[in-house]
This record gives sequence, C-alpha cells and structure tokens, in this order.
Amino acid sequence: MTDVLIVGAGPAGLSAAATCARHGLSVRVVDEFMKPGGRLLGQLHEEPDGTWWNGIEEARRLYEQAVGLGASVACGVSVYDAARGEEGWVVSTTEGILEAPVLLLATGAAETALPLPGWTIPGVMSIGAAQVMTNVHRVRVGERGVIIGVNILAVAIARELQLAGIHVDRMVLPPRNPVTQEAASPYHVMQSLLRVAHLAPSAFIRYGSRLVKSDPLLRLAVRCYPAGGVKMWRMPIHLRTAAVEILGTSKVEGVRLARVSPDGEPLPGTEHDIPADFVCIAGGLHPLAELAAVAGCPFAYLPELGGHVPLHNERMETPLAGLYVAGNITGIESAKVAMAQGAVAGLAIAEHLGRLRDRTALADAIAHVKRVRRSATIQFHPEIGRGRADVERMFQEQGISGK
Ligand SMILES: Cc1cc2nc3c(=O)[nH]c(=O)nc-3n(C[C@H](O)[C@H](O)[C@H](O)COP(=O)(O)OP(=O)(O)OC[C@H]3O[C@@H](n4cnc5c(N)ncnc54)[C@H](O)[C@@H]3O)c2cc1C
Repeated sequence: MTDVLIVGAGPAGLSAAATCARHGLSVRVVDEFMKPGGRLLGQLHEEPDGTWWNGIEEARRLYEQAVGLGASVACGVSVYDAARGEEGWVVSTTEGILEAPVLLLATGAAETALPLPGWTIPGVMSIGAAQVMTNVHRVRVGERGVIIGVNILAVAIARELQLAGIHVDRMVLPPRNPVTQEAASPYHVMQSLLRVAHLAPSAFIRYGSRLVKSDPLLRLAVRCYPAGGVKMWRMPIHLRTAAVEILGTSKVEGVRLARVSPDGEPLPGTEHDIPADFVCIAGGLHPLAELAAVAGCPFAYLPELGGHVPLHNERMETPLAGLYVAGNITGIESAKVAMAQGAVAGLAIAEHLGRLRDRTALADAIAHVKRVRRSATIQFHPEIGRGRADVERMFQEQGISGK
C-alpha cells in the first residue's frame, strides 16, 4: 500500500507528489488523461513582463521532478469512487481498487455549458476543447471562427488560437436565457473584462480601463460601447452583440447575431448572419468536485470560488480524516496558485503522517499561496480572497471528523 494516493496529475497533483516524495513518503498519482500535466498542457501566454508561460514545459518540469523524487505517475486511469475503509481510503479505478491512508483529490475544473439554438451542430466545441485540440493535439479547429461567451479564459484561448494561425473573427455574448444569466449581461461582462485589461496589448485599452472603475462610468461605457467592438490583438470583442443561433445542418456554416441593449435584451430588427466554419462556446469554469461528494465530503456553495467546493482549510485538509484537496477543485485560479496549493497539501500530508521535521515550512507554504494569488496574471474571480476566507471560516465551524 502506498502512503499517499493522488487523483490528478495537473500542477496541483504533481507539485503535491513531489513534496510528499521529498519527505520520504511513497506516492502514487493517477490521471485519466493520456499525458501528465492537466490543463497546463494547453496553456501558452505572454506575461506582462514579456516572458512566456509555456504550460507544456512547466508540465514536463513538474512531472520529471515528481518522478525523479520517486513518485509513480500512471496515466489513462480513471477514478470513479472513493470510500473510507478500515485502514484508509479505498479508491475504485478503471485499473482496479487502490488503497492508501491518505487521499488527495486534485481533479481540477470543468467548463460550464452555455446552451443556444444550434449548439449540437458539428463544428461547435467548448473553448477548452479548442485549446486542447490546438495546443495538445495540434489539430486545426477550423479557418474562421466565432467565440460565444466573453470571459478571461476565452480571451486567453482566443489569443492562443491566433498564435496558431487560426482566424478568430470576433467574440460575442451568448443569448440571454435562464442558463446564461450574467454571461449574457454586457454590464457584468464588461466588469469582469476590466480585470484582464492590464494584459491588453493596446495602451488605449490598458489606460482606458483604469478610467471606468466607478459604477456610473462603467454603465456609461456599456451604453457607448462601439457597435464594431473593441479590438484586442486585432480581434473585435463585442459586448453589445449576442449570438442568437448557430447556423448549419451537417456542419457549422455561420452565426446569427443581434444587437442587444445594455441589459442584454435583443433589439428587434437587428438580426444579421455572418459566415463561420467553427464556433467555440466559452461559459467559464467550475470546480470538478464530484469525487469529493462521492467520498462524503461536506460542500459549500461559493460563487467567488467558481461554485460548489469541498469544505477545506488553508492546509488543504477536508473535514474527513485523511482526505485532502488542492488546485482548482478548491476554487478556480491559475496554474501557479494550483502548484503552490499542491506544495501546501504535500507538507500537510507529511505532517499528518509524522514526516515533517521543519515546522515552519507549512506556514511558509501557506503564505506563499497568498503571495502567488496576489500577483497572479490571470484572475478568474475578483472576490477570490473573500471566498477563501469564507471557506476557511466554514471549515473551522465544521471541524475534522474521525481524526
Ligand atoms: C478547459 C480549461 C482551460 C484552462 N485554461 C487555462 C489557461 O489558459 N490559463 C490558466 O491560468 N488557467 C487555465 N485553466 C485553469 C486551470 O484549471 C488551472 O490553470 C490549473 O491547470 C489547475 O490545476 P489543477 O492541478 O487543479 O487541475 P488540472 O490542471 O485541471 O488537472 C486535473 C487533472 O485531474 C485529472 N482528473 C480529473 N478527474 C479525474 C478522475 N476522476 N480520474 C482520474 N483523473 C482525473 C484530469 O485528467 C487532469 O489531468 C483552464 C482550465 C480548464 C478546465
């Protein structure tokens, strides 16, 4: 039996594996994807200081570090159940049962769907699928595409598609319906975009965005938003235009658009069609936390963290003895934060199993997570600090059972 079983070989899982192995623990990592690295494998962006974040290289570095320290990493293994047994966790996988006294869930995030008429036509994909096809499988997703849904992830991946030579014609809002809600509201989308304005290549957007921080100015900016969109990397971002339908029969042929009011209501008589051979739907991310639910972990609903998250404290412990979580399963943040959380989980596990000699290391690692969070280039949720404080408070009220 290994000391620690980790589900997920993304930045959080691999960083935790290296930390545990460095403290003399036997570690086994399983991941259902064919390669280790998780969502890092799709990431490629330029940092504000001009350096490039190359996720494939980061994934290789983390993998080699973990394996070099003695962790075993098995890909193509899917986990579908986790239950507390007599001596620890009993985990059901597609390769059989695995057992360990400590289980760390680092399963990451999933994309949120934005339904609209025509979204099942071949050639429509989620923005994350376009990222994986482009950067992992090196498959061209199409020649001329439209992105439906305007958010930080969509902007980052649109840039990656452009770098791969794919023409992204424009980004537009989804239609207003009971599912799309704030994603279809020009006001809310504008508010969230201001958080990535510092990454914009155009000085006009960078400096202009600083002027619209107050609510009345934000509303004015939405009312006066140019009909032709605002260009970022030569790609128009439309906040007063929504896709009402994706057109085509056996494959995507175009998108029907309509102008919308500042509240996202379609303006009658403004419908028009544009050609496209692929469409990406960008609905944002939520924590992929089903395994924690199956294991019996209590949850909290915190929109500031991206949705339902397993209760945990800043040491990455859940209320269930021997069950830890790290990375996007605890809230949607960048890969650097996930890595830093993985290190915290690894140290907390080493302490739990009596292998941590340096008592200050854990406190230092927790402080490091907060520093990385503050300086993150990509921040998915503006109130992430409040969400983290709320989940910590809820965890303290709950306590740890069965220790
Ligand atoms: C589509 C998508 C695109 C993203 N793009 C970016 C980006 O461009 N920039 C950015 O900063 N952040 C991006 N993110 C956020 C990203 O989640 C974090 O940057 C970071 O990768 C989170 O690390 P993690 O280790 O928590 O999870 P992940 O990197 O997601 O790794 C989790 C791993 O767990 C595995 N797994 C999940 N469930 C199971 C199971 N039941 N059994 C076995 N294995 C399982 C998965 O296969 C995956 O390899 C993206 C997220 C998604 C979903």
